[in-house]
Amino acid sequence: MKRIIRVFPRRTRATPTDELAIVGRGPELFDQADEVHVSVAFTWDLPFAEKLVEAWRPVAPVRIGGPATGERGGDFEPGRYVRQGYTVTSRGCPNRCWFCSVWKREGNEVRELPIRDGWNVLDDNLLACSEAHIRAVFAMLGRQPEAPQFTGGLESKLLKPWHAEALRAMCPKPKQLFFAYDTDDDLEPLREAGRILQAAGHHAHPKSHALRCYVLCGWPKDTTEAADRRMIEAMGSGFTPMAMAWRDEDGKRSQQWAGFQRQWARPGIIYAASRFRTGE
Ligand code: SF4
Repeated sequence: MKRIIRVFPRRTRATPTDELAIVGRGPELFDQADEVHVSVAFTWDLPFAEKLVEAWRPVAPVRIGGPATGERGGDFEPGRYVRQGYTVTSRGCPNRCWFCSVWKREGNEVRELPIRDGWNVLDDNLLACSEAHIRAVFAMLGRQPEAPQFTGGLESKLLKPWHAEALRAMCPKPKQLFFAYDTDDDLEPLREAGRILQAAGHHAHPKSHALRCYVLCGWPKDTTEAADRRMIEAMGSGFTPMAMAWRDEDGKRSQQWAGFQRQWARPGIIYAASRFRTGE
């Protein structure tokens, strides 16, 4: 079997931790490989990734890939470019959100991949897949040692009662189900998703923090007042919000929005602040 060293420009929660996963450095004396793969998740890491490619060339043939390079993803290999526990069962999205690179990279048609084990689903748009695929993913999640999480995000507009019921019937129960409130037209579908989930027995914010919602903020012309309103609307729809500060091509966001994101990231802080606001 080939010995492949994977090199990552930075460590994130999803970075693999095995001995052949190397973060942010060139080769050392005893690093040996048949191939080196430099994997880049963020476009702003590309200049550093190019330097890593050059640094590793003397060790073995080097390939660079990952979402930031614009390369389409292939079949998912658990533990290779993201750590064990994460899984990707489909790629692509039928939507074309202005701030998102998924549809440009992966295409406007969803590709269903062979389903590999994991409990944290990172699919671009799982609910755009066929019913048979979604049911097979749910069945796979039922065999995992940890509670399912859907951190890739589920699209409110596509949520149907049977999805909510199947998610509710899972054992163990899902730890986190992320939806999204990115643009104004997401609000009504988000409210409807909240109603469908609650009708199926999922507990809404603040009773539970399992229903979560990424809320995009901080794009040019956004204001903290408007972003605050969107966070409160997400809570009113039953979801615990998580602010996602928009970044420009270089990965930069203002300090103001970085602070705003921190304030709206942790469920415990959000819950305490909302109690304070309502005087409960
Ligand atoms: S729905 Fe999500 S994955 Fe699809 S284009 Fe919009 S942000 Fe990207």
